Amino acid sequence: MLIDSHCHIAGPEFAGDLDQVITRARDAGVQRAFVILAADDQPELQQASEVSARWSDVRFSIGVHPHAAGKYASDPGEAAREVGRAIDAQPLSRAIGEIGLDYHYDFAPREVQQQVFREQIRLAQRLKRPIVIHTREADDDTFRILTEERASEIGGVFHCFTGDRDMARRALDIGFHLSLAGIVTFPRALELKEVARMVTLDRLLVETDSPFLAPVPHRGKRNEPAHVARVAEVIAELRNTSAEAIAEATSENFDRLFVP
Ligand SMILES: [Zn+2]
Ligand SMILES: [Zn+2]
Repeated sequence: MLIDSHCHIAGPEFAGDLDQVITRARDAGVQRAFVILAADDQPELQQASEVSARWSDVRFSIGVHPHAAGKYASDPGEAAREVGRAIDAQPLSRAIGEIGLDYHYDFAPREVQQQVFREQIRLAQRLKRPIVIHTREADDDTFRILTEERASEIGGVFHCFTGDRDMARRALDIGFHLSLAGIVTFPRALELKEVARMVTLDRLLVETDSPFLAPVPHRGKRNEPAHVARVAEVIAELRNTSAEAIAEATSENFDRLFVP
């Protein structure tokens, strides 16, 4: 049994062949998936019920992505209220996210990204739910905000972790989990392979981030939850263990963190 801890299968990329995507996932041993929903995307929030009707083991995480933070520039608190309303309307929601900072694309001003991130951590504190963090080229600000907002009390995961061993250590030290995606299968991702070897087994998750980031040998195509099996296999090789052991540990971690 495997769990894809982060995918976007309620998005338009999957509307045409959702049944086949779910069948392929189940055939690959993927028992459930954590489907990320954007609180500011009404079609995606509505499509979530189509997904859960076909795959009752999915769970949802809802947040305002840093790319969309600019919509809330005049009132960052509204981002958290929007997430709160979406959570109230979705009984299978289990976490707040993905939320965070993206200084690679800088689609929204950095101060706005930070405020929107803070407001959503505060919501997670009030609701006592874990968070799913997206951070890119913003390590120091991410850790500063997580510390100032006492995010260790709620915990969560650094999704699609691509940092180095130092950053992995910092994330583990504040009680967070690390989720590895298909990037770990890329031959040149040497530092990330080191991270895959060092993460304590009880803090590791695996994901696809579908439709993005297809693993080798599917690179460049639309990614889908079935491919999380390849991520688990590569991590197992790096750690000299079996894919079954990685599947079992990451599934237990998922259930402990996000409550079935
Ligand atoms: Zn992300
Ligand atoms: Zn994502």
